[in-house]
Amino acid sequence: MDTISKEKRSKVMSAIHSRDTLPEICVRKMLWRAGYRFRVCDRRIVGHPDIVIPKCRALIEVRGCFWHRHGWEWDGRKLVETSHCPTATMPKSNCSFWREKFRRNVRRDAQHERDWAELGWNLIVVWECGLAKSRDRERTFRFILRNLAKWERK
Ligand SMILES: [Zn+2]
Repeated sequence: MDTISKEKRSKVMSAIHSRDTLPEICVRKMLWRAGYRFRVCDRRIVGHPDIVIPKCRALIEVRGCFWHRHGWEWDGRKLVETSHCPTATMPKSNCSFWREKFRRNVRRDAQHERDWAELGWNLIVVWECGLAKSRDRERTFRFILRNLAKWERK
């Protein structure tokens, strides 16, 4: 048996290529209310980051924990779990398929992070689990606004 239901997986899969996921919309609304203006999924920037805030030279990536492997890192040979996110489960069937997909995603994300750093972008990665409960969400939002304010002053 898989650890996530078929229904949930198809939801996860359908969210992958969508630019308007709920967690992302919730971050955008917060930014808008806080007075920040931004571009969404900018095709001119490598990796098409989710949210671009030119005033702060900042990018915000809103990542799904399952698909982007929250808590997992590529050590050069395999993915290793460095912290535990309950949503980043490993499906029990089609293991090699999922491992390969996850490996590609994590490496692609890491490559984009290096590209953006080289281009001088400030980056905030927001994980969807940090937006699920209102207390976590408030903490995540404070973290984002604190960093944006810092980068805006420079
Ligand atoms: Zn997570």
